[in-house]
Amino acid sequence: MRKGYSEFITMAANSMGKASKKSLQSVNSDIDWNGVLKPLFKKYRGKKHPLEFNDPYQLLVMIVLSARASDIMVNNLAPALFKQYPSFKHLATATPEELYPLLRVPGFRNKAAWIVEIAKTLAPLKAIPETITELTLLKGFGRKSANVYMSQIGLPAEGVIVDLHTLRVAPRLGIAIGEDPKKIEQQLMVKVNKKDWHILGMSLTYLGRETCRPTNPHCEECLVNSVCQYYSEQK
Ligand code: SF4
Repeated sequence: MRKGYSEFITMAANSMGKASKKSLQSVNSDIDWNGVLKPLFKKYRGKKHPLEFNDPYQLLVMIVLSARASDIMVNNLAPALFKQYPSFKHLATATPEELYPLLRVPGFRNKAAWIVEIAKTLAPLKAIPETITELTLLKGFGRKSANVYMSQIGLPAEGVIVDLHTLRVAPRLGIAIGEDPKKIEQQLMVKVNKKDWHILGMSLTYLGRETCRPTNPHCEECLVNSVCQYYSEQK
C-alpha cells in the first residue's frame, strides 16, 4: 500500500450489494469454465463501458453516482458536474449542499456527501488508490465498485465484478450457487483463471443485460447454453 493512505486505512470497508431473489442451488464442478466461457470473453473483450468517462477521476465519481441508478442517468448529469468540478482538487472545495443541485436526482443527497468526502480524502494525496483494499475504504465504494474501476483503468484484477446481473446469471449458468455477492465472487475466482477475472465480470454483466434477462432469457441465442443448468432444466 502506498504512503499516504495510512490516514484512512482504518475506515470501515463498504458492504457489498444486495443478493438476488432467486438462484439455483447446485453447481457443476466438472465443467472447464475457462474453456466454456471463451466465446463470451471474445464477444465482450474491448466492449466500451456504458459510463462515459474521460479519466480515472470521472470514472470513480461516476461509479459512486451509479449505485442503484442507471448509467444513462449518470451520463446525463455528469458533464455539468465535471465542468464545474474538473478534478478531486476542485471537488474538495465544494459542500454537499452546493453539489446536490447539479445532481438533480432525488435520493442523490447521500452520494453528493460521499463524493465530497472522497475528494477531501484523495485531493491531498494527489493519487487515486490502485488496490482493492484501498479503494474499498472510500465512501460508497464496495468490492463491485472497486472491481469495475480496476477493470476499466487496466489495473491488475484482484476480484470479479458481481452486480445484480451476475447474481442472476451465475447461478442459472451453474458456475456458482447462492445469493451472497461475496460468496458468488469467491466461487468465480476459483473457477476462472485470474488473468480473465476482469473480462469474466464484464461478460456475465453484459450477458445478463443483453441475453439472460430476468424474465424470458434468450437461451436459444446464448453462447453458453450448451452447459447452462437453467437451460437444460427447461428443456
Ligand atoms: S442459456 Fe439462458 S439461462 Fe443460461 S445463461 Fe444463457 S440466457 Fe441465461
